[in-house]
Amino acid sequence: MTDESDLTGATPRRRPKADVLEINGRKLKPSTLMMGHGFDPALSEGSLKPPIFLTSTFVFENAAAGKRHFEGVTGKRPGGAEGLVYSRFNGPNQEILEDRLAVWEDAEDALTFSSGMSAIATLLLTFVQPGDVIVHSGPLYAATETLIGRILGKFGVKWLDFPAGAEQSEIEEVISRAKSMGRVSLIYLESPANPTNVLVDVQAVAAARETLFAGEDQRPPIAIDNTFLGPLWSKPLDHGADLSVYSLTKYAGGHSDLVAGGVVGSNALINPIRMMRNTIGTITDPNSAWMLLRSLETLELRMSRAGENAAKVCAFLRDQPKVETVGYLGFLSNDRQADIYRRHCTGAGSTFSLYLRGGERESFAFLDALKISKLAVSLGGTETLASAPAAMTHLSVPDERKAALGITDNLVRISIGVEDPDDLVADFEQALSAI
Ligand SMILES: *Cc1c(COP(=O)(O)O)cnc(C)c1O
Repeated sequence: MTDESDLTGATPRRRPKADVLEINGRKLKPSTLMMGHGFDPALSEGSLKPPIFLTSTFVFENAAAGKRHFEGVTGKRPGGAEGLVYSRFNGPNQEILEDRLAVWEDAEDALTFSSGMSAIATLLLTFVQPGDVIVHSGPLYAATETLIGRILGKFGVKWLDFPAGAEQSEIEEVISRAKSMGRVSLIYLESPANPTNVLVDVQAVAAARETLFAGEDQRPPIAIDNTFLGPLWSKPLDHGADLSVYSLTKYAGGHSDLVAGGVVGSNALINPIRMMRNTIGTITDPNSAWMLLRSLETLELRMSRAGENAAKVCAFLRDQPKVETVGYLGFLSNDRQADIYRRHCTGAGSTFSLYLRGGERESFAFLDALKISKLAVSLGGTETLASAPAAMTHLSVPDERKAALGITDNLVRISIGVEDPDDLVADFEQALSAI
């Protein structure tokens, strides 16, 4: 729960952001800044790369400095602690990572967490109180739906959703119904929705909030799970979202070798989330933070290549007789979705839905025949992964809801990696012939 003292915001920082951000008035691009932003080698024996700071606590220069830092950590003094205190609050690896993560969305600040779900849980605990209503787009990542519906539900939090592709009028109608149920304290989006790949019109959501909260001093923040297209192909803060949320486990980590989460946005909203994270200890660990720094150096390279590969693979799959349809953002046939895509996205991503002709027998035969693609859930890694949502990630979803979401037995979910695209096409071709 937030109160006034939380909102003054502690920002424990080890050092100012002193490095070069522009040259001759030219603002440096994220892919350049990933190599050095936020790290001063002189502070670490000249080490080119940051060391991993394996320590639980930090030594104060003197007692007065310790007091000053705690005034910052607890929010007693605005502006935050200018030193490191204790590793549940922050550490050098996490701070450097947070500086660099914020760069991708040109955000004021960022926080990193032990997982995507711990980021989402910390965000929800910060803004939502018993009796409040969360308005969200549907469907959401299954664990997020569980957290909102079943876990926060136990504490008297209510929710109301609108379908991901909804028009502004429908969104307004849902928000106004939610207002009659209680205080609407958060609008939570996920785009594109998984596994339907339906995009949310963030601009329409922001406009709907504008209409419904005009003249009120308390407007619910708009947070969006940007895991599938961010931070390269979609920057929702530019379209009216206040907070962009990540499972860094996916494209940002990118090598299927770590679990982490992130939230980026304005200082005013990040500060209370930081206070909650300080209290409950959902920060990412130094080792994962270091690995993410390594990953962010190649983020643009990896995502660009994966996106190009996916375009080639989807162009091949679309024409195959054993394929019913390919749910890929590069092939939008619906005018409204195509319009949202043009306004919000700069790339179609590399995760898509493949609907085969047939049912479970056909999708399982296809999955079992793949030789390059691995049969695993998750996405956004260097390697291509394929899975069957109806039998795996969405197994526990009730049948009617599965049908409504298009989670049928012939659906195969594919995340394309950075392999040679023609090798991938050859693999899919031979797997189709095995059906
Ligand atoms: C994976 C994922 C999450 C959860 O992230 P974890 O890092 O596994 O906790 C949340 N949202 C989306 C869209 C995801 O794909």
